[in-house]
Amino acid sequence: MKQIVLLGSTGSIGTQTIEVCLQHHYQIVGLSAGSNIRLLAEQARLLKPKTVCVAREDLRSDLQALLADTDISVTAGKEALCDLAATSCDVVLNAVVGMAGLPLTMAAIGAGNTLALANKESLVAGGELVMEAAKKNRVSILPVDSEHSAIFQCLQGCPEKSLQKIILTASGGPFFGKKREELTKVTVADALAHPNWSMGQKITVDSATLMNKGLEVIEACHLFDVSPDQIEVVVQRESIIHSAVELTDRSVIAQMGVPDMKIPIQYALTYPERMICDVKPLDLISLGRITFAKPDTQTFRCLDLCVNAMRRGGILPGVANAANEEAVAMFLAGKIGFLEIADLVEEAMTKFSSLQIETVPGRMALYHEVRSFVHEKAASGHIIID
Ligand code: NDP
Ligand code: MG
Repeated sequence: MKQIVLLGSTGSIGTQTIEVCLQHHYQIVGLSAGSNIRLLAEQARLLKPKTVCVAREDLRSDLQALLADTDISVTAGKEALCDLAATSCDVVLNAVVGMAGLPLTMAAIGAGNTLALANKESLVAGGELVMEAAKKNRVSILPVDSEHSAIFQCLQGCPEKSLQKIILTASGGPFFGKKREELTKVTVADALAHPNWSMGQKITVDSATLMNKGLEVIEACHLFDVSPDQIEVVVQRESIIHSAVELTDRSVIAQMGVPDMKIPIQYALTYPERMICDVKPLDLISLGRITFAKPDTQTFRCLDLCVNAMRRGGILPGVANAANEEAVAMFLAGKIGFLEIADLVEEAMTKFSSLQIETVPGRMALYHEVRSFVHEKAASGHIIID
């Protein structure tokens, strides 16, 4: 029976991972959350892990009280989270949101644990540092993000070096087809109404700005060792083709399926096996057709900002990511308008462009500085909404 440590168990990916683990009788030996201790305790009672950890230290005693009649060990804080990620197990699934996931990714890799990675921000922020550590420790990183799982699946059985190009599909998000003028007044509720996927708030806003696709271009460059110029982003509104690869002989192999994250989550956990997955089958006749379009990078500027950050390399992708995290938090809090997210990412990339930092703690410190910069910028003049 596989033993799984699940980081970010209370989120969208986390709760779906639990469903997959229950279906296949995988044993969850560790669970963690940011602050939602009620759900975390409920999950702990159901799954009986050895350890549960809450990121917020001030919630330790409340969580302990909720689990007082069990023998589950309760821990709290950033270091304890890293310890949990380093627990010996078959797979660590990192479903934390944001750059807070980077130290956990590094801890899992450092301990030699196979890493199922949903937390794309850790790869964007850590970049080559993550990939080098994985290589050194001979750790496999199994993608959970649906596009990267698709690419990974398409490449199974392909000769090494046969990959020419990645076709990275995008749904286009809730504002597909809209122009800048129409986006000045969009609300948080509008941005959270994704047409095809039900996800956490941050990634849903990222999908609306196309930042998510930009982060995914960077993620794909690292995971599959390609340059941004080898990646073509194609809007595929129905989210049925999850991505495709073009090989040396111009064969294009795509992975398709209903838009349900349980498929890529399960593949990362069962790899290289295939098992029955509790999702609807794909019905192509009812679907009728699949459409393709070019992304509108003039209106949705975050995609090109990320591609440029990746071309320039170093800390810039991480800077873009950190700036976006702060900008999205401020958008969700009603402090800035939708279009300002891209402006703030661009400003941060200009301000922090010339730095070179080669350690994860060094980069994390810088990213916190980037977030403060964005916060102050936004508070001092970027505000559209009072
Ligand atoms: P959610 O916001 O739904 O869940 C995030 C999880 O991380 C929660 O368990 C949350 O705990 C925890 N968390 C938040 N902040 C911290 C912190 N500082 N330290 C430790 N844990 C924290 O996000 P999603 O599940 O949507 O996304 C998770 C990751 O997967 C993201 O990187 C996203 O980009 C990626 N992803 C998600 C997809 C999806 O369909 N949702 C698809 C592809 C990728 P709490 O509940 O207590 O706040
Ligand atoms: Mg994705």
